[in-house]
Amino acid sequence: MDFSLSDNDRALWESARRLALGELQLAGPASGFDHSAWNRISELGVFQVDPADTPGALARTTHLLEALGTGGADRGLLFAAGAHFFGCLWPLLQLGTPAQRELWGPPLESGRAIGALAITEPEAGSAISALSTSVTTEGDQVVLHGHKTLVTNATVAQVLLLIAKEFPNRGSLGLSAFLVPTNTPGVSLRPIQTIGLEGAPSGEVELNSVRLPATSRLGAAGGGLGVLLAAMQAERTAILAGFLGAAEFDLARCDHYLKSRRRTGEQSSLADHQAVQHTLAEIRCRLESARWLLYRGLWEVTQGRDRIAWPAMVKKCVSEAVYECAHDIQCLYAGAGWRNLNRSATAVQDTMAILAASGTTEVQLNTIASQLTKTLVPLTGPGAP
Ligand SMILES: Cc1cc2nc3c(=O)[nH]c(=O)nc-3n(C[C@H](O)[C@H](O)[C@H](O)COP(=O)(O)OP(=O)(O)OC[C@H]3O[C@@H](n4cnc5c(N)ncnc54)[C@H](O)[C@@H]3O)c2cc1C
Repeated sequence: MDFSLSDNDRALWESARRLALGELQLAGPASGFDHSAWNRISELGVFQVDPADTPGALARTTHLLEALGTGGADRGLLFAAGAHFFGCLWPLLQLGTPAQRELWGPPLESGRAIGALAITEPEAGSAISALSTSVTTEGDQVVLHGHKTLVTNATVAQVLLLIAKEFPNRGSLGLSAFLVPTNTPGVSLRPIQTIGLEGAPSGEVELNSVRLPATSRLGAAGGGLGVLLAAMQAERTAILAGFLGAAEFDLARCDHYLKSRRRTGEQSSLADHQAVQHTLAEIRCRLESARWLLYRGLWEVTQGRDRIAWPAMVKKCVSEAVYECAHDIQCLYAGAGWRNLNRSATAVQDTMAILAASGTTEVQLNTIASQLTKTLVPLTGPGAP
């Protein structure tokens, strides 16, 4: 297992970090989706995929998002980028036909088009077998009808990777996936007001007899679960890399603040208290463990070894780690945190939101438990039970 970056990728990593620390920091936080920051990270090549090395592209984008985070890029922007790449572009490249890849690949890779993954419905969040968006086939067309909610990027996207129920009696094996251009007649998009991650616009998608060519289906009829798994595999493993980077940035700023805050007439700073140092050390440990877990999960996925248990473990542990770090940093800022100094309160809201994204912690635990036998060390030999 080698997690080191090639010279080329290291140089890109540095460019991403410089972009975030320089231009993006100077521009300040945007309210809502930041189109100009999106264009800048797209120009950097964050979404570019080398067709000769698609697994390498997954790792490359993951590291670039982490680099942007270490330079203090907004978590909303990083989450929007992750939803676009891991939730839409990645499954398209894995499972799309040559014609689908040719149509959507170049605009999504250049960032000219934005993608979104539309699974959740008002009555079906964790339980995907309860999805009810319907599909009927009419000749060489399909007609979609239903309602999606909490879709990241919905209101800025040009294409949705949408999961619908084509065979109602087959549970999750009755799902199919479709590439739905958002300008198709019958598609309406509405923004959702959220707390946290304002840079990653969330929205409702209404599908009112949306007619598409049957060639819009991604994968086979009834193959939607495989598409959903491909998206979840990438999202759960990699979407929080940027948040790990952002936590590093926040930790450095908090450390600087604590060292510079002195009581009148005293030489020592807040950072001289052992209790404060221990909190910082705990954050350091939590971030390092989460980072190595993410890298290991990424390795499992890019080596084609596992697509279920490791992504779930990474999602659960990394989301909890970045949330706990944001919470502890907020406590260290105390009153200044309440005033959102260094956007510490925003970080708490942003990281709290991602606890439910790509499946809640309970759903990840269900998945990890269901895969436990496969991940246990085999007990063999004469003393084995
Ligand atoms: C920041 C963010 C971004 C998102 N982006 C997208 C997106 O781009 N596309 C998209 O389609 N969706 C998106 N979602 C929706 C997300 O996938 C759902 O919120 C998530 O799957 C949970 O569904 P729910 O909110 O309906 O909760 P529910 O399913 O109603 O769950 C409520 C509670 O019950 C628990 N629970 C439910 N079922 C079980 C079970 N079987 N065992 C144990 N506990 C259970 C849950 O863990 C949770 O605590 C996003 C959500 C967030 C917060």
